[in-house]
Amino acid sequence: MSAPLHVAVVGAGAFGGWTALWLRRRGCRVTLLDAWGPGNSRSSSGGESRVIRGLYGPDRIYVDWVVRSFEIWEESEARWSTQLYTPTGTLWMFGGPDDYARTGLPHLQAAGLPAAEIELSEARRRFPQIDFTGITSTFFEERSGWLAARRACRTVAAALIREGGAVREEAVRPGRIEGGRMAWLKLADGTRLEADAFVFAAGPWLPDLFPDLLGQAIHPTRQEIYFFGTPAGNPQFRQGALPVWLDLSPGSSFYGIPGTDHRGFKIADDTRGEPIDPTSGERTVTPERLEAARAYIARRFPALAGAPLVESRVCQYENSPDGDFLIDRHPEAANVWLAGGGSGHGFKLGPAVGEHTAGLVLGEGKPLERFSLARLAAGAARKTQFDVEPADGG
Ligand SMILES: Cc1cc2nc3c(=O)[nH]c(=O)nc-3n(C[C@H](O)[C@H](O)[C@H](O)COP(=O)(O)OP(=O)(O)OC[C@H]3O[C@@H](n4cnc5c(N)ncnc54)[C@H](O)[C@@H]3O)c2cc1C
Repeated sequence: MSAPLHVAVVGAGAFGGWTALWLRRRGCRVTLLDAWGPGNSRSSSGGESRVIRGLYGPDRIYVDWVVRSFEIWEESEARWSTQLYTPTGTLWMFGGPDDYARTGLPHLQAAGLPAAEIELSEARRRFPQIDFTGITSTFFEERSGWLAARRACRTVAAALIREGGAVREEAVRPGRIEGGRMAWLKLADGTRLEADAFVFAAGPWLPDLFPDLLGQAIHPTRQEIYFFGTPAGNPQFRQGALPVWLDLSPGSSFYGIPGTDHRGFKIADDTRGEPIDPTSGERTVTPERLEAARAYIARRFPALAGAPLVESRVCQYENSPDGDFLIDRHPEAANVWLAGGGSGHGFKLGPAVGEHTAGLVLGEGKPLERFSLARLAAGAARKTQFDVEPADGG
């Protein structure tokens, strides 16, 4: 009997962690390496919560991967006896063109994810916490909510260990490519880790690991997240009283995940921020952006006007120019795979991305054109992940 394929996976975020777990379940020997550990504070997967929703405009492939990821998230929760997904539903608010929702609804219906337009009067009745001024249409997605992000990364890594894989806290560099293959990774202490195949799922660090290949293809941008304190005893802001929401009215691409394990009223702006170095970037919020968030909640959630900031985070998106993922083979090394470009929406899909990537490593199917390296011509990141442009162009 031949020895199992040894695969080294670099990066224990949503993409690398799930890829490693799938490879192990498919019989590989797996070593998962991360410079600072699964779901660490610098990683893109390292936040408290990430939205899982199925509405993806005209993009059927993402809807299919949401469905598959839902299956895997739910199977994993049962298998590991832990809750990672909190169902809340998602309220979409538009103040102008709403093609993103209208083109997406048929895909959701076909995929068995219940969602529908709701009358504004109905939205006002159900969510009196929200001032709907300027909103012209609303949609509600039933099967959606949020995932406990960094806890999920740790849980996936722990499962990998239980199932026979190895997880190591190591900072690595790609080894030399010779004869169309890579044979080893370089560890920080100068030693080498040999493997038969390599998956680089280093999120916003991919351009640092492969500057010539990805330096112009993946753009990390700084994203601020705020948790505001809600009034004591006000049931309208208790955990579960509000769904996940997205406000795509003119001048806004704010979204929120109320509750988030009692940390406060979480809001963030999906507009791409300034470039950030994910290793050395400071993680404190800027007064101007904080003021913009305050002004926004005072307008849209009047009971929270003047609410204190109780926590904040600075994370980064690892944007591809078109917002689609990168899941492809390295053009010069047949046994090296790249998985990244989550572009602000990758977390929820980690289970499906991992399953797909593991299959590619094992020689099943071909990389999808949609996620190919070749299509990633140099270009600036899109301003937001939705078709709606923020008015301030920020
Ligand atoms: C503020 C914010 C909100 C978001 N909201 C959502 C959302 O609501 N829903 C959603 O689905 N997605 C969301 N996303 C996007 C999603 O979180 C990311 O697309 C996803 O987490 C990316 O995962 P990843 O595994 O590619 O990268 P990461 O999680 O960054 O993992 C990469 C890992 O590689 C490691 N690494 C880097 N370099 C090295 C090295 N040299 N050696 C060893 N290890 C290394 C890092 O330590 C890191 O742990 C959001 C992102 C942010 C920042």
